[in-house]
Amino acid sequence: MLFSRAAAVRTPEQVAVMRRAGRVVAEMHEKIRGAIAPGVSTGALDRIGREVISSRGATSNFLGYAMPPFPGVICASPNSMVVHGIPSDDVVLRDGDIISIDCGAIIDGWHGDAAFTAPVGDVDPAILRLIDVTEAALLAAVEVMVAGNRIGDIGHAVESTALAGGMSVVEGYTGHAIGQAMHEAPNIPNQGQAGTGAKLRVGNVLAVEPMLVLGDPETALLDDDWSVVTASGDWASHAEHTIYVGPNGPEILTLP
Ligand code: MG
Ligand code: MG
Repeated sequence: MLFSRAAAVRTPEQVAVMRRAGRVVAEMHEKIRGAIAPGVSTGALDRIGREVISSRGATSNFLGYAMPPFPGVICASPNSMVVHGIPSDDVVLRDGDIISIDCGAIIDGWHGDAAFTAPVGDVDPAILRLIDVTEAALLAAVEVMVAGNRIGDIGHAVESTALAGGMSVVEGYTGHAIGQAMHEAPNIPNQGQAGTGAKLRVGNVLAVEPMLVLGDPETALLDDDWSVVTASGDWASHAEHTIYVGPNGPEILTLP
């Protein structure tokens, strides 16, 4: 079965380090979110991310990732771009856009990873709802991340929230376990049946990341080999947190 493999169990000491990495990611989010405005380039947002990483003694898990090596510390994906957009001084935000920012940080070898989507200036209310439903889907997933529940419960929570909100779910891209690598097995799909898949255990740390579209969710990869867009041009939203399945319930590690 696709996601039957259980995620690794972390010790409280390991989770404490991941919490520190998560706080760095949250600070990147806070500073980048504060700078999002018409006329600002995604390259400028990337430089803000770099400043936070270096000021906290962290390193980037995005910079140099995979092949071709990813050139930024953030992914910046506007409008119909779903994920993995390359930040650039040539990509300038305009009034009415939305921008998804995904970034991460490593502290003492342990990773954090989180994403948000924000409006730029004055945005169509239907698109603002896309962002809201994406965040609601993520929070619905966090709620079921209790020991004894199953990985399928996470995907079910994301998918049912998305569909109830009139949005569609991108297929082929998933969340993941996270630890001493950013992407660890198992994948955490954004679709699933409740009560299926591996059981969640106290000490699991998972990055859950709904990617929703207002319209047709089929995707295409651009020639830069990174940027994932909707084939239809319909707009997409992305939200992600790194979440610890704790003894007293779920804890979002990528919060301030
Ligand atoms: Mg991410
Ligand atoms: Mg991720």
